[in-house]
Amino acid sequence: MSYDHNNIFAKILRNEIPCNKIYEDEFVLSFHDINPQKKIHALVIPKGNYIDLDDFSLNATSEEMVGLLKGINIVAKKLGISTEVGEGYRALANIGDHGGQEVPHFHFHLFGGEKVGKMVE
Ligand code: AMP
Repeated sequence: MSYDHNNIFAKILRNEIPCNKIYEDEFVLSFHDINPQKKIHALVIPKGNYIDLDDFSLNATSEEMVGLLKGINIVAKKLGISTEVGEGYRALANIGDHGGQEVPHFHFHLFGGEKVGKMVE
C-alpha cells in the first residue's frame, strides 16, 4: 500500500484544511480531534508521509522517531495532562484495518482530562 497524498491529515499538513492547532515543530503537528471521545482528545502526527506505525518504524529516521516521542510529551504538557504537570493520559495508535485506523497518515491519539476507562472495549 502506498501513501495516499489526499488523506485528510495530508491536507491539514499542506494547510488546505484548517485544524484546531495545539503545537507544531519541525517533526510534528498536533491538533484537537474533530470528534472528541474524551474531555481532552488530541492528535499528534509526524510531518513525514507515513501510513501507520509499521511504516514509521521501518522508514522514519531516528530524528523523526525522537521528534515524535518528544512531541507527544510537549503536547501532553501543554494540555496539562502529562504526569509532570497533571494526572496522566492514554496515547493510542490504531494500525490498519483490524486496528480500526480510518485516516491513513500515522497518528497518535492522546486522551485525557478525566479517567479514560477500559483499555479495549
Ligand atoms: P483513526 O481511526 O485512528 O484513523 O482516527 C482518525 C481520527 O481523526 C478520528 O478520531 C477522527 O475524529 C479524526 N479526524 C478526522 N478528520 C479530522 C479533522 N479534519 N480534524 C481533526 N480530526 C479529524
